[in-house]
Amino acid sequence: MMTVFDKLKDDRGNPSKICSPRKASIESGYAKEFIANRDETGRFWSTFLFTGFFFASFMHIWFWFSINSGSTPFFTPLSLSIFAFSFLFYGGAMGAVIKLYGWRSSTHARQALLRAGLCAGCGYSICELQPEADGCTVCPECGGAWRLKP
Ligand SMILES: [Zn+2]
Repeated sequence: MMTVFDKLKDDRGNPSKICSPRKASIESGYAKEFIANRDETGRFWSTFLFTGFFFASFMHIWFWFSINSGSTPFFTPLSLSIFAFSFLFYGGAMGAVIKLYGWRSSTHARQALLRAGLCAGCGYSICELQPEADGCTVCPECGGAWRLKP
């Protein structure tokens, strides 16, 4: 889900950074929608539900233990409000960040960026450059080597 923990290697097997959809759009001047299909970028709702629920549960339990010393009922109107607020606030923020900056996976990132003729590591436009003998086009910005044509 999150590309932060996802590793990408270029076509010569060297580790590469992954250019975010947003950075690729800024670098190339293409609209984000042109570079990435909807199913290639991060998902808002699954991130919202997953991180929102996790964070809200944590906040709820933390509140129950620390503020009330665990002596009040587990569910009170206040603790439920904290749960709901944490869920909406944190889940919403994480969902938006993942949607804007994230790819669904490094494979999706690579596929979308190379299709648009961009370096998958930094978003620099490499489609006009001459490929080298092994078929890889080397990015002058970050040194990543990519096979644009399969
Ligand atoms: Zn590059």
